[in-house]
Amino acid sequence: MSTEKTLSIIKPDATARNITGKINYMIEKSGLNIIAQKRIKLSKEVASRFYEVHKERPFFEDLVSFMVSGPVVVQVLQGENAVALYRRVMGATNPDDAEKGTIRKECALSIEANSVHGSDSVDNAKKEISFFFSETELYEG
Ligand code: ATP
Ligand code: MG
Repeated sequence: MSTEKTLSIIKPDATARNITGKINYMIEKSGLNIIAQKRIKLSKEVASRFYEVHKERPFFEDLVSFMVSGPVVVQVLQGENAVALYRRVMGATNPDDAEKGTIRKECALSIEANSVHGSDSVDNAKKEISFFFSETELYEG
C-alpha cells in the first residue's frame, strides 16, 4: 500500500449541470481526499498540451473544443493507491460500459462528455499535477 496523489478534472459537461458537488461526494465517499482544487477555464493551447498524447486520434479536435466549452474543476486527490482507485471510482471511458455506482455511469452523457478525467499512472499523475498546481498549492496536512 502506498499513499499516492492523482489529478482529477471535473469536465465542462458536469460543471454545466451543477453536479460538481455530487461528484466530490462520490470521490470523498470512496475514501480519497481532495487536497487541492480550483475552477478554471482552459484555453485551447492548454487543453491541447494537456491532451497531447491523443493528438493523432480522430477525436482530438472535438475533445479540445469540448474541454474549452465551459469551466472545469482541476483537483488533486490523495489516498492509498489513489491513481488506480480513482480510475475505478470513475468507471470506463464510455459510460455505456461503466459499472453501476461509478461516476461515469451515474453522471456521464457520452464517451466524450464523460464528466471526469483521472491520471492513468503514477508517473503521469506527477506530470499532470505539476501541469496545473504549484508546490505551495498542495497542502497535505
Ligand atoms: P481521461 O484521460 O479523460 O481520464 P480515459 O483515460 O478513460 O479518460 P482516454 O483514452 O485517455 O480515456 O481518452 C481521453 C478522453 O478523450 C476521454 O475521457 C474522452 O473524453 C475522450 N475520448 C476518448 N475516446 C473517445 C472517442 N472514441 N470519441 C470521442 N471522445 C473520446
Ligand atoms: Mg486518459
